[in-house]
Amino acid sequence: MLLSRIARDAAPSSISLPVVGTESLFEVRRIYCVGRNYVDHIREMKEGDERDPPFFFQKPTDAIVLNGDVVPYPLLTDDFQHEIELVAAIGRGGQRIAPTEALDHVCGYAVGIDMTRRDRQREARERGLPWEIGKSFDRSAPCGPIHPVDRVGHIGSGNISLTVNGALRQRGDVAQMIWNVAEIVANLSFHYALHTGDLIFTGTPAGVGPVVPGDHMVGSIDGLGDISFIIGERI
Ligand code: MN
Repeated sequence: MLLSRIARDAAPSSISLPVVGTESLFEVRRIYCVGRNYVDHIREMKEGDERDPPFFFQKPTDAIVLNGDVVPYPLLTDDFQHEIELVAAIGRGGQRIAPTEALDHVCGYAVGIDMTRRDRQREARERGLPWEIGKSFDRSAPCGPIHPVDRVGHIGSGNISLTVNGALRQRGDVAQMIWNVAEIVANLSFHYALHTGDLIFTGTPAGVGPVVPGDHMVGSIDGLGDISFIIGERI
């Protein structure tokens, strides 16, 4: 095969999310995730200090699964778990952003699910290894459409919940976040230069648990509607 052809085939196509109420698309640049951001989830995981500063990991951009699509049951796990999360979308980049300015950089919000190979994550934690294998795998970031701030405002409170096959699994309030969206954006901007197109998954409330092929997950946050995904067969 010609090198030029290989290069073209290998170039990743852009990953975009629909923007509610418009014809535009939000082109996703990076996906950042916050760990341990709700006290009740820290307690259920029996880890960390509730006053620790936020910490971050990333998922690959092409881990996005669009609302309504199938989330395949991944390789390498027997404990595939859901974490319902508020997702903040960065509209304007920056570095060393002050918390008081941080919300000016957020252009919208979405409902997302941080899908996790819990067995691999626990193993990595116990062995002091990186989290990638537990968190940053293919199709691990189901995410709904972006709701622009000019339609829904900033999301600082409201119910956040997830059902599996109609049964309530996770429920919390966005106001229970240890680090709010402004503080997360400000803190993250001291780690990395933020850019238009970045997404930040802001952590999950209690009730995380496993899914199996055929399960139907519905995630919801007040003001942002519902997202819906079926778990596919094992890859
Ligand atoms: Mn998470």
